[in-house]
Amino acid sequence: MTVNDDYAMTIDGKAVLSEKVIKVINPANGKIFAEAPDCSAEQLDEAVTAAQSAFRNWRDTPIKERQAMVRKAGDLLIEHAAELSRLFTREQGRPVDAAAMEIQGAGTWMHAVAEMTPPVHVSADTETEFVETRYVPLGVICAIAPWNFPVNLAMWKVAPALVAGNTMVLKPSPFTPLCTLKIGQLLNGIFPPGVFNVISGGDDLGPMMTSHPGFAKISFTGSTATGKRVMESASKGLKRLTLELGGNDAAIVMPDVDLDEVAAKIFFGAFFNTSQICVATKRLYVHEIIYDDLRDRLAAIAEATKVGDGTEQGTVLGPIQNQRQYERVLDLMKDARDTELTMIQGSAVPKNGGYFIPITIVDNPPEDSRVVQEEAFGPILPMLKFSDIDDVIERANNSDYGLAGAIWSKDTDKAMEIARRIETGTVWINQNLMLRPDTAFGGHKQSGFGVENGMDGLLEYMAPQAVYLAR
Ligand code: NAD
Repeated sequence: MTVNDDYAMTIDGKAVLSEKVIKVINPANGKIFAEAPDCSAEQLDEAVTAAQSAFRNWRDTPIKERQAMVRKAGDLLIEHAAELSRLFTREQGRPVDAAAMEIQGAGTWMHAVAEMTPPVHVSADTETEFVETRYVPLGVICAIAPWNFPVNLAMWKVAPALVAGNTMVLKPSPFTPLCTLKIGQLLNGIFPPGVFNVISGGDDLGPMMTSHPGFAKISFTGSTATGKRVMESASKGLKRLTLELGGNDAAIVMPDVDLDEVAAKIFFGAFFNTSQICVATKRLYVHEIIYDDLRDRLAAIAEATKVGDGTEQGTVLGPIQNQRQYERVLDLMKDARDTELTMIQGSAVPKNGGYFIPITIVDNPPEDSRVVQEEAFGPILPMLKFSDIDDVIERANNSDYGLAGAIWSKDTDKAMEIARRIETGTVWINQNLMLRPDTAFGGHKQSGFGVENGMDGLLEYMAPQAVYLAR
């Protein structure tokens, strides 16, 4: 019993501590500031058993009641957003206002999902027979979340899974466990014990969960490399899967855009959350006629954008969230330097042990350079010239990833036509980073498997059941 009571796990409706702990670091200074439970194998068993015991009652609870509880959970997140946002900033790094927006946004997302009811399809209704296909919940869901949008991406799983009638064991990233643990405790009064369990732990816990026989489905958001391990592990028990994985999104900027209008939007589509967004613009293809002008405008915005501690007034972008990711981005920067690419950097960053990296634009690197080919997940953006639309579409599609992409043009008919040729799960025209709770989101190619959000996302937590009645 060595952990602070504040950060307890929620198992079977109880606040639970653990023998071992994991340390939580503030990325704005590199210092440990809290401890979270490191869930043992026995505690994982307890959580799964609790969720299994709660499943039948929860499944048989009328959907309207389940929806009402999920709506209430959304209310609580919105109510506590300001208070949770300070903790969010300490563990995740993002400035406090933007942190509060994520928590509030997660609450309104839950409200929207709480309005959804799965359909029933009647395929025969005659004197002799009645046939319908309805959707039934799966059982206990294993939910694994990443550190870049720790609250939002967790609630994208919680809301549909619980509305659908499943129970859940949720695990946040070891880098950002605290807000999620708090939310577990906050929502504990709403759902019956065992319906919604939250556990935390180190690198061993994810594999322990995916190989646990008690789960019916794994819903995972994280990197493509980890997603492959999750899929392999899930295959043993033939568990259902949703995988929301990495991306290397291309944006194509046509020569007819109004740069006064779009430059800042393009900038924040690439750098918001210090570029730690699965759907951030990670390759920026710009028509050669406007290339220099846009590059100079982006450089000026970078210079005027304060990167620093998210608790300080005026900070727009925070640090990289963790040391592992920080070193990865530094390695990409080193490679860019070693291969003599031209880099344009924004304002200076604090040198205080925090994981800070200046906003960096790489000026027209070769297509095969690492910074173009790899998902950086940090503020280093390759900007590339094009002159021919067929060529640039091919370059944009030339990736194992297929998460999202953007087209910027005044000619929206032409942009719609280009959008049809982009091989990604989401395509934006004259906007970016926009997602809705009623619209399916998922990756093509190695960016994912299955979808979240919308009715398609809800049905990923259910199985069709055909009922044949002879009259
Ligand atoms: P990650 O894959 O390192 O970790 C994600 C989660 O998986 C963490 O909770 C981690 O503890 C857990 N995990 C690690 N190894 C595991 C294993 N073998 N089995 C089971 N679980 C395991 O990813 P990350 O670094 O936290 O997140 C960044 C990545 O996530 C980026 O590639 C980003 O593009 C991607 N991402 C995708 C989406 C999307 O919706 N498609 C959204 C956000 C982030």
